[in-house]
Amino acid sequence: MSDVPGNTNDSKAQKHQRAMEKTKQKVDANIAQAQTEQSVVVLLTGNGKGKTSSAFGMVMRALGYGQKVVVIQFIKGEQLSGEELFVKNHLPEVAFHQMGTGFTWDTQNRDSDQAAAVATWQLALAALRDGQYDLVVLDELTYMLAFDYLAEDQIIDAIQQRPAHQSVVITGRGGGSELKAICDTVSEVKDIRHAFNSGIKARKGVDY
Ligand code: ATP
Ligand code: MG
Repeated sequence: MSDVPGNTNDSKAQKHQRAMEKTKQKVDANIAQAQTEQSVVVLLTGNGKGKTSSAFGMVMRALGYGQKVVVIQFIKGEQLSGEELFVKNHLPEVAFHQMGTGFTWDTQNRDSDQAAAVATWQLALAALRDGQYDLVVLDELTYMLAFDYLAEDQIIDAIQQRPAHQSVVITGRGGGSELKAICDTVSEVKDIRHAFNSGIKARKGVDY
């Protein structure tokens, strides 16, 4: 009877249902196993696109539950971004800081760059000590380690001593191995292809 289309579909549907039931059992078992209620440190790294935008996805999630959020960007240049515009124009409740001036590819002045990194780290440190914040985003922090502008052990200490309910999201390529080791969730975004490398200009709303 397998040549009757209806029967084939029926068995496909049954197979699908069995597979879904198995998956559900696995997922339910995993959910039942995860019993620890605690804040987390998330590291989003790798060469592919999607790290900062994922961090801002978590900002939206946190805000959805009325949580307090602070975003600190250790960014290289002064390129405006959609997320910056949106936060500044529509989300006055989000604390938002950028390293900005003193650190651009044009200046290439190591001393002023490091001074800017250290000053911005002071803001991060204050946030990591401030119990009002549920979510602290340290965007592009890993570059400060790569350039040796900030000490990895200081960052680790501050993260480990943060308020118990506070989660932290760190983004950027690379990242120190010790920092990586203390993160609860580490995702590496892999670059398969990026439009820019085919000569397509960075696009508003997608890339910045
Ligand atoms: P996004 O902000 O889009 O989530 P990201 O944070 O993962 O990207 P960054 O390394 O911070 O990536 O770089 C930011 C900018 O560089 C974005 O405009 C992004 O589209 C672009 N970009 C990211 N990865 C690549 C890549 N592999 N090749 C070229 N451009 C890239
Ligand atoms: Mg980024």
